[in-house]
Amino acid sequence: MNIIRGAITVERDTPEEIKGKTGELLRALKVANGLDEDNLKAIIFSTTQDIRSCYPAKAARECGFEKTALFSAAEPDIEGALPLCIRVMIFAEGLTEKEKHVYLGKAASLRRDISRKFAVALDGPAGSGKSTIAKALAAAYGILYLDTGAMYRACALQLYRKGISPEDAAAAEAAIEEADVDVRYENGAQRTLLNGEDVSDEIRKNEISMLASSVAKLGSVRKKMVQKQREIAGKQSCVLDGRDIGTAVLPDAPFKFFVTADARVRAERRWKELREKGNTQIDLDELTKEIEARDKQDANRAVSPLRRAADAVTVDTSNMTVEQAVAFIREKIQEKI
Ligand code: C5P
Repeated sequence: MNIIRGAITVERDTPEEIKGKTGELLRALKVANGLDEDNLKAIIFSTTQDIRSCYPAKAARECGFEKTALFSAAEPDIEGALPLCIRVMIFAEGLTEKEKHVYLGKAASLRRDISRKFAVALDGPAGSGKSTIAKALAAAYGILYLDTGAMYRACALQLYRKGISPEDAAAAEAAIEEADVDVRYENGAQRTLLNGEDVSDEIRKNEISMLASSVAKLGSVRKKMVQKQREIAGKQSCVLDGRDIGTAVLPDAPFKFFVTADARVRAERRWKELREKGNTQIDLDELTKEIEARDKQDANRAVSPLRRAADAVTVDTSNMTVEQAVAFIREKIQEKI
């Protein structure tokens, strides 16, 4: 016996809307799981209290589910629950593959009322698309996005401004020890602060990228940054992106992904991004070499090297749009809850 779940929201409490949306959800579940009515043993629906004009079992019978046992119940009012929502649990037999749950409309996200605080860890090399994906995921779930790379970049800026080389480990560690690196949120967007100053734009400069990778090798710097990241993630649900989130910062995170792409594809993305910002001097081959050098340095350092956590799902974005990558990750998250 397989148990398949799904949910959909309706726009209005009218019989037509409820019948239409119930049919849409059931058809999507049938297609996703290759079901026919012989597989379907029973369907249980639950609806939020604001759905009164028709019950989904009736709608299901009317849309051609003749033999399946049907049952509908109203949920109690729950603070924080999605309004106008129909949930379903299908008991099916004879599935040849793992069941696929389907969430449509506003139900296509975690239920905040019954979801515990959670973290999504996205690790991967530079230019893999993880920060764009992380931002989109955080927005979809209505939770915080923490860009941990920005924190190492702020450390790099501290050294850059002081003219200290990260190769001079003792001086570099001392300078960063006294630096105050923090993040704050403005309209949901992260701003990165160095000694109280907003350096969010300055840390994106190309010369800071490689420097950040060198700074990130220093043990005491990592310790300080990881502590800060855990503090932020301990207070609320969030999506974190970086190199060591799933392996070192939050090894117990319930959802871990390793986002990657071909080095050339990543260099092209970065090149386009820089050109859009008016930087036309950058050579694509140079950039590819730089990205490869940064990958190598990040993957070979002694402390918390960039690597896939054993329990992380790999997402190769070489041939994926951002939307496809986000949809894939959300599907994986939904499968696990
Ligand atoms: O992701 P981003 O390119 O902004 O990161 C800059 C550098 O910071 C990376 O090359 C990496 O060396 C370092 N980093 C890290 N651990 C993280 C995030 C970034 O070591 N969690």
